[in-house]
Amino acid sequence: MEYAYDDQNIFAKILRGEIPNKTVYENDHALAFEDITPQAPVHVLVIPKGPYMSLDHFARDASAQEHSGFMQAVAEVCRLTDVDEGFRAIANTRAHGVQEVPHYHMHILGGRPMGRMLA
Ligand code: IMP
Repeated sequence: MEYAYDDQNIFAKILRGEIPNKTVYENDHALAFEDITPQAPVHVLVIPKGPYMSLDHFARDASAQEHSGFMQAVAEVCRLTDVDEGFRAIANTRAHGVQEVPHYHMHILGGRPMGRMLA
């Protein structure tokens, strides 16, 4: 699958420092920041620094170092936030997944019971 990454998307602008963000954690390959419209007491977005539009693109095309850096960021978000009692990780993907921002991001939601949700 070929795709064209839109470098004007809002998360690309955040990565370039053009738009402020509330950073939770950052390393060479990933940035984690608070969602601007939190849906739970903890609502953090983890994004890779590379130009990947969605989870499947990242899974397919990212290097081992990028994968490792991304998961390290997930681990640090879980360590730094109040999610010991559990959390939900979501990666909305393209039209059917109702993805609004075309830069791969994982939502980490926690701090309250999430309720049953598969669709
Ligand atoms: P999606 O539907 O999975 O693409 O979710 C995009 C998320 O990005 C939504 O939860 C928005 O609230 C969030 N968002 C949009 N713009 C910003 C921003 O500038 N800072 C932080 N979060 C944002």
